[in-house]
Amino acid sequence: MNNDRFLRRFLSHIKCSRCGQTFEVGDVNVLGNQDELWFLSVSCPMCHNQGLVAAVIRDGKGRQVATELTEREFHQIRRLAPLTMDDVLDMHNFLKAYGGTLREAMGQEMTEGR
Ligand SMILES: [Zn+2]
Repeated sequence: MNNDRFLRRFLSHIKCSRCGQTFEVGDVNVLGNQDELWFLSVSCPMCHNQGLVAAVIRDGKGRQVATELTEREFHQIRRLAPLTMDDVLDMHNFLKAYGGTLREAMGQEMTEGR
């Protein structure tokens, strides 16, 4: 998939959770992907709010944003050890074995504790 084209499309769907500012391509850092699951970090050019975005990208079925973390969640996650390839593969295997959709899996994970 063309990353740049994906990013532009993706960015048209999200805004800063604090001030509502839209993001430019330069405000986003693609952390990586495993198949259709992408992880990105965003930094707001207006208020410098930072966030992590997990997105499920399906070719042929449009592009769907699964979730955006709050700043608090971001800082909690940032304190964790960096993801390794093993972590990504674990996630991949979890999703492979999971009976529901990726969107459901992400939604359940991310809405816990809110
Ligand atoms: Zn902002």
